[in-house]
Amino acid sequence: NVFKEGLSKTRTAFVEKVEELITRRKKIDEEFYEELEEILIGADVGVNTVMTLIDDLRAEVKKRKIEQAADLQPILSEKLIGLLKGDDHAELRMAPEGQITVILFVGVNGVGKTTTIGKLAHKFKSEGKKVLMAAGDTFRAGAIEQLEVWGQRVGVDVIKQSSGSDPAAVMFDAVQAAKQRKVDVLLCDTAGRLQNKTNLMEELNKIFRVIQRELPEAPHEVLLVLDATTGQNALSQAKLFGEKSAVTGLVLTKLDGTAKGGIVIAIRNEMNLSVKLVGLGEKMGDLQQFDSEQFVHALFA
Ligand code: GDP
Repeated sequence: NVFKEGLSKTRTAFVEKVEELITRRKKIDEEFYEELEEILIGADVGVNTVMTLIDDLRAEVKKRKIEQAADLQPILSEKLIGLLKGDDHAELRMAPEGQITVILFVGVNGVGKTTTIGKLAHKFKSEGKKVLMAAGDTFRAGAIEQLEVWGQRVGVDVIKQSSGSDPAAVMFDAVQAAKQRKVDVLLCDTAGRLQNKTNLMEELNKIFRVIQRELPEAPHEVLLVLDATTGQNALSQAKLFGEKSAVTGLVLTKLDGTAKGGIVIAIRNEMNLSVKLVGLGEKMGDLQQFDSEQFVHALFA
């Protein structure tokens, strides 16, 4: 299971506590539910989601006439998988063979955008695809250089202009280069400054329009990158960007660094957006396509 190692902190904080609770209390009663609620909220599953989950569990326990806490664990896994599933479709949307797939990455500074682009470039390249990256974060000092470092590491070219230039112009260049060089995938970084939110949204919209003018089907994905270690903060960012910038899916990074992996469940339950990719470390290979069943099994296995 590809998620197992990366989720070890969450497993310790969340599942081991649930297991301890089950062993200690043995019977399902009010106090049991209360303690379970606390554990779930502590793992950042989110208050609303926890309430729904506990209500569902109560109903199921009644229906199946369960009394022993030990019998609850499989039902809990089942319910968690259910919450994560919904209508989700974790596969990235790709252009038909022979056409350019454009993926735009948005999100605030420091969440792991550049790293995710580098990792994804590596993944596509190892699948035999021709990849190009666009340095659309012309605002943050060092952002362009950082993308270039990833470009060298994975052997992928970066289209850039000087720091401070118009990101929409960078995207225009990048799309032209992608056409000329017949690339399969164009991965576009964008600025993530949080001050001046309106301007940032306008900037993203302009980038969007430039890309669409050149390639009417693009961008195929607008992925909002969120840092799992920020817990409920990630959820607020998802709401902010989700409303304003045509986000089509989520990337949740740094799951390896947090005990609060429950945030995946909260986000999935409160947003109508799928988690498409998860970051499980800083290395090239530490990016996985999200799979709700494997994710929950990694927690309980
Ligand atoms: P950006 O500002 O959004 O482009 O963020 P960066 O890509 O520069 O990432 C910020 C920091 O988070 C860097 O130190 C990355 O190495 C680290 N990082 C990114 N993704 C992950 C991940 O999945 N796990 C861990 N542990 N660190 C990550």
